[in-house]
Amino acid sequence: MSITSNLIEIKKGIPDAVKLVAVSKFHPTEAIREAYSTGQRIFGESRQQEITVKHKDLPEDIEWHFIGHLQTNKIKQIVPYIHTIHSVDSWKLLAEIDKVAKKADRIIKCLLEIYIADEDTKFGLDFDECRSFLDQNLWQTLSNVQIAGVMGIATYTDNMDKVRTEFRSLKTFFDELKSTYFENFDYFREISMGMSHDYHIAIEEGSTMVRIGTSIFGERQY
Ligand SMILES: *Cc1c(COP(=O)(O)O)cnc(C)c1O
Repeated sequence: MSITSNLIEIKKGIPDAVKLVAVSKFHPTEAIREAYSTGQRIFGESRQQEITVKHKDLPEDIEWHFIGHLQTNKIKQIVPYIHTIHSVDSWKLLAEIDKVAKKADRIIKCLLEIYIADEDTKFGLDFDECRSFLDQNLWQTLSNVQIAGVMGIATYTDNMDKVRTEFRSLKTFFDELKSTYFENFDYFREISMGMSHDYHIAIEEGSTMVRIGTSIFGERQY
C-alpha cells in the first residue's frame, strides 16, 4: 500500500464534515509531499524541533497542527506558523501561547486536552480541573488564542466498548462546555478524537477531527 492509496481509502470512510489531520511525526518530508500531492493539507506533528525543520521545507499552504505535549519554552518556535495546538492542558500554557502570539500578531486555535483514558501516562485536564479553569474566566481576557474545542486520547486497548465509552464522555463534556461557557463562541466547535485504530468509533461518537498517522504513513521508525 502507498501513502496515496491509504489516504484515498481512509477519506472514503470519513464524512466530509470531519477533518483529517495526517500525523506525520517521525516520517520524512517526502512522505508529507506525497500526501500533499493527493490534496491533503492538514498535518500534525508532536515535537517542536521536528515540525520546525519540516515546515521550512514544505509548501506554505499546509495547515500545521501541534498534537504533542508542549513545553512553554518551545512555544516561540512554532507560533509563527502553527494553526492549531491540540494539547493545551494548563492556564500557564494557554496564557504563554497568547503572549507569544500577540507579539507575532497571530491568532492561534487551541484545544483543551481532556483526560479521558484509564492510563496514568496521559496528559490532560480532568473534567473538574477543566471546569474550574473555565470558571475563573481568565481565558476571556486573552486576545490571541481561540479555545476551539477539546481533544482526547482514549485508552490504548482492544476493548472497543471501553474506547467508545471514553469518546462518548468527551462528546458529552464538549456539549456541557459549549452550553455553559461557549454558547456565543462560534469557533468552539471541534472535538479532536480518533487515531488509526479507533477513528471509526470516534466518528460514530461525534468526532469533528481525527488524527491519523500509522494508517496513512505506515509504522514509525523511532
Ligand atoms: C501519534 C499520535 C497520533 C497518531 O497515532 P496513529 O496511531 O499513528 O494514528 C494521534 N494523536 C496523537 C496525540 C499522537 O501523538
